[in-house]
This record gives sequence, structure tokens and C-alpha cells, in this order.
Amino acid sequence: MTDILIIGAGTAGLTAGIYAARAGKSVKILESTTYGGQIINTPDIENYPGFAHISGYEFAQNLYEQAAGLGVEVEFAEVTSVTDGQEKHVETADGKTYAAKAIILATGAKNRPLGIAREKELIGRGISYCATCDGMFFRGKDTAVNGGGNTAIGDALYLAGICSKVYLIHRRDQFRGAEIDVEKLKEKGNVEFVLNSTVTALNGDQQLTSIDVTNKITGEVRNIPVSALFVAIGQVPDSRAFSGLVNVDDKGYIIAGEDCHTSHEGVFAAGDCRTKSLRQLTTAAADGAIAATAACEYIDKNGK
Ligand code: NAP
Repeated sequence: MTDILIIGAGTAGLTAGIYAARAGKSVKILESTTYGGQIINTPDIENYPGFAHISGYEFAQNLYEQAAGLGVEVEFAEVTSVTDGQEKHVETADGKTYAAKAIILATGAKNRPLGIAREKELIGRGISYCATCDGMFFRGKDTAVNGGGNTAIGDALYLAGICSKVYLIHRRDQFRGAEIDVEKLKEKGNVEFVLNSTVTALNGDQQLTSIDVTNKITGEVRNIPVSALFVAIGQVPDSRAFSGLVNVDDKGYIIAGEDCHTSHEGVFAAGDCRTKSLRQLTTAAADGAIAATAACEYIDKNGK
């Protein structure tokens, strides 16, 4: 029996681990892929207070080491269900069961797919969801990024430094991401903005060779030869394993307020997986601290 079981070792989950361990609770984190969460794909973080610049990888590594140094255990396992009978149980895909007094759901969100023909078959053959992971394979080539948020803008900035040309395709003419970074992109000589447009076809036999982009206003279809398309059109939460236990909204985000309490007693939600207006590193870290404190209070109050 662990005091607090945290599902997800991203910024929210690791921060929760740090707070819970420092409060004297035993803590285990279950993570299905790798620790660090989405931020490991961000080349340069400029908006985390106290750090003018830090890479997402370095940030995640520091966070992991800080948590591990405090005694937080991270185990790699995919959680398939969370139930609550006499005590709370978590089951994993490899058949293990874990018992805990309180649970923090910190599963973040995963990349939203384009949802067009041939996307799946071309993954790893020109379609990628991570510019910092795969960008170097396309060094010196023409590439495209789809999206208008901070991820797409960051990806385009990174790729502009290694690719011969980068097309930034966005469905509107206003960006959701930070204006300061849009301005930096405009100063690059090798970035072309393709606005009010969506990617409507992926072409190429074994490998992506071009994309069709449709202008939503004129209806014009433009064929753009590229070796890679980096899809950065946001995330969708991965809350399927918990949807029977806690209430989720119509998009699948776990319904929880700023206090991180879910609809189920003793189960808390932190970070990008919960309903919130601003999904940032700072708000994920803040949620981790709040959820861990709430979980500790729950355990102490219930004499568990
Ligand atoms: P996001 O902010 O949700 O932006 C997604 C973008 O994709 C939007 O521009 C959206 O267009 C577009 N989009 C959504 N669905 C689409 C579709 N089906 N087809 C075409 N375009 C589509 O996602 P994100 O950029 O991944 O960022 C996620 C969160 O992480 C945000 O809160 C972001 O600020 C944060 N983040 C922060 C940093 C940083 O601060 N350094 C870095 C990366 C990410 P519309 O604008 O028209 O809706």
C-alpha cells in the first residue's frame, strides 16, 4: 500500500511527487512512456520563472532527479484502470495491481492527429509529431509545420535553424502562440507563413514527398513539396482509463477545479489532463503542488 500513487511523470506528476515526499508520504509514480511529459519536446523554455532559458529535456531531467532524490519511485507501466472499493486500486497492462490511499491523475495529453488519409502509414516516413526528436533527419530539406500554437511556433523556429525552408501552415490568420515568437519567425529568411489553410492530402509512395494545402477562404489547393510535415495541432487528454471513476467533460478532460479535487473522493487531477483555461509548465507545476497537498490532507483527515 502506497500513500499516494501518481499516474503520469510529467511536470505535474513529478511536482506532486516532490511535495508529497517532502510531506512525509510514501509516493510511487506510474508512467507509460518516459518521464518529463510533453515538455521534453520543447527546445527552449523562456517562460518558466527563474529560468531565462532552459531546454525541455534538461528541465525534465532536473525535475526527475529532484523527485528521485527525495525518494519518489518511478515505475514504467501503462495504467488500464483505477477502481475504488474498500481501497483504491490501480491496474496496469502487464497485470500488476497497486493499492493506494490517495491517487493523483496527472496523465497530461497526447498529440492530436490530423485525421486525414495516409497519416498513420506515413508516421516515421515524413510525418512526425516532434520536431526536436525528428527534425535532424530532415536537415537541409524543405519541411512544413502545421498548427498555430506555441508548439507549432517553437517547432518552426527550431526547424528554421536546420532546414532549408519551413512552411508554417495555420488554419487562421491569427496565432494562438506567443506574439514575441511569431515576430522571431517573421525575421527568419526561410520561413513562409501559409495562413487560413489546412493540410488536406499527404502525397508520396514510401515516403512523404509533398502535401496539399487548401486555402479555407479561396478554396485554392496548393501542392507544396516537402520531405516532412510536423503536426502540432494541439493535444487531446488520455483519460479513458479513468472515465468510469471520475467525471470528464465532452472533450475527455477530467473535471476538477483549481483545488484539483475530482468528482471522486481521494482522487485528484493535476496538469494538462484536467479542465483548466491555461495549460503551461507553470500551471502544471502549481497543480502538482496543490494536488499533493490536497492528497496529504485527505489521508491525514481520513486517518488512513
Ligand atoms: P494549442 O495551443 O492548443 O494550439 C493548437 C493549434 O492547432 C491552434 O493554433 C489550433 O488552431 C490548431 N488546430 C487545432 N486543431 C486543428 C485541426 N484539426 N486542424 C488544424 N489546426 C488545428 O496546442 P500547442 O501549441 O500544442 O500547446 C499546448 C499547450 O502547451 C498550450 O497551452 C501552450 O501554450 C503550451 N506550450 C507552451 C510552450 C511554452 O510556453 N514554451 C511551448 C509549447 C506549448 P486555432 O488557433 O485556430 O484553434
